[in-house]
Amino acid sequence: MSHVCITKVKDPDIYNAVKSCFSEIITDELLNGVRKILIKPNLLNSSPAHTGVTTDLRIIESLIGILREKNIKEIIIGEGSFEDTEKVFKALEVYRLEKFGAKVVNFEEDEWIVVESPLKLALKHFHLPKTVMDCDLIINIAKMKTHSDTGVSLGIKNLLGCILKRERMAGHIMGIEKTILDVFSYLTENKRMVSVIDGIYALEGRLGPANGNPVKMDLIIAGTDSVAVDAASVRIMGYSPERIRHILLASGFGFGEIENYEVSGESIENVKRRFDMPPRIPSFRSYLLSYLMEEFFKKIPYPKFEERCTRCESCALSCPIGNITLINSKVNIDEKECIGCMVCIEACRRGVLDYRVQHELIYGVGRFVYKLVLRGD
Ligand code: SF4
Ligand code: SF4
Repeated sequence: MSHVCITKVKDPDIYNAVKSCFSEIITDELLNGVRKILIKPNLLNSSPAHTGVTTDLRIIESLIGILREKNIKEIIIGEGSFEDTEKVFKALEVYRLEKFGAKVVNFEEDEWIVVESPLKLALKHFHLPKTVMDCDLIINIAKMKTHSDTGVSLGIKNLLGCILKRERMAGHIMGIEKTILDVFSYLTENKRMVSVIDGIYALEGRLGPANGNPVKMDLIIAGTDSVAVDAASVRIMGYSPERIRHILLASGFGFGEIENYEVSGESIENVKRRFDMPPRIPSFRSYLLSYLMEEFFKKIPYPKFEERCTRCESCALSCPIGNITLINSKVNIDEKECIGCMVCIEACRRGVLDYRVQHELIYGVGRFVYKLVLRGD
């Protein structure tokens, strides 16, 4: 049976919490024959860990110490950020971790190897860095965050940061959940994996994963079944994991357990807290039905706090369909063409952009009836 370990962190005693959690998960059996380990954090941008946006580097520092004790010689920290990775590494002082015996790799400067998706839901082929291809074990250290498009950003979603940026952008056009599944299915079929969720400072709110309110949860959640780890984390965030489509799909394809896993350490009931989540668009196992729902209740961004705008153009440069222009220094979004991917929301660090759900009135009435009649969340 799958196993998820939930550990309470007593700041500043990160090391002991990481050690106690990983002693259950990173066993000698798991490390048997492992020579090279890749640690994949979530370093989306240069916001520090206490904002709830990026992985706490103290977890990585502790983990390196534990792996060195287990005689692992090659430990690599690799990431391809949403923003310029080199600038993010420097701002967050990621290279500082090299003094503990790890090597830091900027995926953007790595050699890229093309692979075939086992599922081919959105991308038939995509590129992975040689560092990812060469490692024997991936320790995926994601952040506990809400996400305006996918509901949450946890372990399965974090692996999307392994592929080329332009393919991530293409994935937003082809369907982000399907793209997540393409990447996750390849990695989970071809690599040993440990999934870790940094819930020391989590992030809640409708504008995640780059903007929102930090929540001090003081938790680390870990296991070797990425689906079970994500499912337990969503339950800790106060919701059913079945409402998160990419987790539901991952379990439906047989990549892990959404329901049947045992928990050690803290119980979910004891640590759970209901997060402020982005509006939920109903999703179904049927692609067609989900697609129709997403089209009808598309999320449309708009500049809510124009006075905060610095005209940095980050939103315009990130939009995968070139749908944003700055006319007379004003952000202009073509609502008709917008595919509702929410990349611009992720790109804007100034909190200028917000979004509304198309057909808001019908959506509101539907949600009200659903809650009242079915008592759903
Ligand atoms: S305007 Fe924003 S939500 Fe619309 S397509 Fe562009 S990035 Fe996506
Ligand atoms: S990313 Fe934000 S601050 Fe920059 S131009 Fe767009 S709306 Fe303005």
